[in-house]
Amino acid sequence: MSDGYKRTYGHENENGEWVRPVPKPDDEYTYQWNPEWIDEHDKPILKITKSSLGSFKWCNKQYEFSYLDRRPQDQSEAMLKGTIVHDAYEDFYKSVDIKKVENMTFTEMNDYFVGHFPITDYSDMTDSIATFEAQRFVDARNEDKIDEWMPTGNELQLDAKITIGANDNPKYPLSRDYIVHIQGIIDRIYTENGKSIPFELKTGVWKDSKKTTMRREMSFYKMLMEASDDWEGEITHWGWYYPASNYVYVEEVNKRSITSMKKSLAELIHSYEQNNFKPSYFHKKCVHCSFVGICPAALDAELNRGSSWV
Ligand code: SF4
Repeated sequence: MSDGYKRTYGHENENGEWVRPVPKPDDEYTYQWNPEWIDEHDKPILKITKSSLGSFKWCNKQYEFSYLDRRPQDQSEAMLKGTIVHDAYEDFYKSVDIKKVENMTFTEMNDYFVGHFPITDYSDMTDSIATFEAQRFVDARNEDKIDEWMPTGNELQLDAKITIGANDNPKYPLSRDYIVHIQGIIDRIYTENGKSIPFELKTGVWKDSKKTTMRREMSFYKMLMEASDDWEGEITHWGWYYPASNYVYVEEVNKRSITSMKKSLAELIHSYEQNNFKPSYFHKKCVHCSFVGICPAALDAELNRGSSWV
């Protein structure tokens, strides 16, 4: 899954001020972007990923701390679990031998798949995934479509350039059109009847309130796949899988979500143009933020509450 990308962090200077990293001379794209560079062709363009856009939508200020300042963030247990299970699922597809499972019973196949998850941590989750995959295989075999069981993309990184129009988001108009670099690693892409289905794995617990965020993420992937030179295929559906809740969902692409996601891209650029990344303070959300101790909005709230975060 690793693309060799190494994150460069900012640092504190001798006066205790935070110093952002600066793009390297050969960087083609960056989060430390300046809209005034737009006509300087040796300068990088803005990089946007599904995660960076998600961070911006969660809280503009958190995006600034995390992506522009490049301040280190706490690694939570949930983040660690996500990384380990994603890596194991990627390796699973690389190691299974379809020829061996072709004639197995469901139970034999389930055991074989369980044995192909190269981790023992989080076995409750990997056992659920093995059962899900065994059922998917049996269904594919019943329909004589075993070749569609294997994903056509497995943790596939794609890159593309797209144009964000000055008026893509009337609420956040831009001073001009911008070309930006979009990048993402798509957990899985399945192909059914010649159509591509991007499919996302989440290791948290499913809640219906996550649907809007999931649709935004899948809209981003659809846009990325369509704009990338490295992917071909019509995308009519997308889906997600939450093994902790045994929840699988596939739906037709949602045009409203795509429009809304594109508006979010313009809103992000608008913040760069204005050099203004506003905090969106909400106590229940902010207690989980790595930057709660330095965020002006959280510090104000703490003063008003007369209490401490710790
Ligand atoms: S503490 Fe809250 S408002 Fe401040 S950056 Fe974090 S999420 Fe945003």
